[in-house]
Amino acid sequence: MIIICRRYRISLSAYLENELDETLSRLLEEHLIDCPECAAVLETFRKTIALCRELPLFPVPDELHSRIMQLLEREFQPEPPRLHLIIRKTTKKKSRGNKNK
Ligand SMILES: [Zn+2]
Repeated sequence: MIIICRRYRISLSAYLENELDETLSRLLEEHLIDCPECAAVLETFRKTIALCRELPLFPVPDELHSRIMQLLEREFQPEPPRLHLIIRKTTKKKSRGNKNK
């Protein structure tokens, strides 16, 4: 798999969920025309998602549901804002020191 394919394949599920912006969707569609491998991966994703949607839903015990939600919140928590402040502060100091440029 060439590097450009890897970059597009990361976006395939977002593409199927209509979560990509217009530009990226268009670039991906152009790539799919020229790349049968990525087109096949997309088609496999599409079929897998369709099959999963046909599966019956089962109730999940409350305790399991809360544990999963806690793990997801922990896993997908955005970076703490403190880090952004530190980066900005450092950047400002650098720009002050480079006034001669
Ligand atoms: Zn490709």
